[in-house]
Amino acid sequence: LVSRNFHPEDTIVDVDGVKVGGKQIVVMAGPCSVESIEQLREAAKAVKAGGAQFLRGGAFKPRTSPYDFQGLAEEGLKMLRQVADEEGLKVVTEIVDKDDLELVGKYADLYQVGARNMQNFQLLKALGKANKPVMLKRGLSATISEWLNAAEYIMAGGNEQVILCERGIRTYETFTRNTLDLSAVAAVKELSHLPIIVDPSHGTGRWQMVQPMARAAVAAGCDGLIIEVHPHPEVALSDGDQSLTPKNFNRLMEDLGKIAAVM
Ligand code: PEP
Ligand code: MN
Repeated sequence: LVSRNFHPEDTIVDVDGVKVGGKQIVVMAGPCSVESIEQLREAAKAVKAGGAQFLRGGAFKPRTSPYDFQGLAEEGLKMLRQVADEEGLKVVTEIVDKDDLELVGKYADLYQVGARNMQNFQLLKALGKANKPVMLKRGLSATISEWLNAAEYIMAGGNEQVILCERGIRTYETFTRNTLDLSAVAAVKELSHLPIIVDPSHGTGRWQMVQPMARAAVAAGCDGLIIEVHPHPEVALSDGDQSLTPKNFNRLMEDLGKIAAVM
């Protein structure tokens, strides 16, 4: 189902009226984690002003250490919905457990499957039965074939509304958090009809590299970007080092318009 051989035309995923995979670049932006209503509102106003269509923010955080901030759970989901509605944005947020399908679906427009859950097959099967689109991130060390097979799990269940997201893979390089594999954009375009977006925030782990890699991703032909933006990155509860300030996000959005049509 995922293969271009069986479906030559590009798929356009309609997320409550916002089309991902069309001629225009779609931008999802917001903080790594939902921390408070004030933080989220400030971030949402900034990403809306910059021209994003989606507000991102994690309410269930898959943190490496159990002692790190784990997210606000349903309270965070409610804030996402409320603030996104205030600003006229769609909501994309991560689901980490198949039992949360209804809970997350109640507030989100687009389910996000994180890198750590790319091969959580029970979750993928549950999402195959959902009637909302899914954004599937590439696993921490997943090959393109493994990633496309994960998408196949969702599609095989009957949900063909899948957006792929390249977010960097683990290599021997340590300067960056991950190695952003922009060649995956071209590979996915060859192998599949599904839209692909790029996450230069997790892909590099360094805010200084987010703008150049976002521009490169768009030049490579991706369908959209997901970018971490925090009103005060220095006090972020997660991923501050890779979060853009509103000012830098705005600058990036202006630059993107020179490379491709932005929605
Ligand atoms: C995130 O988007 O905040 C996140 C946890 O991303 P990933 O699953 O790519 O690490
Ligand atoms: Mn993050």
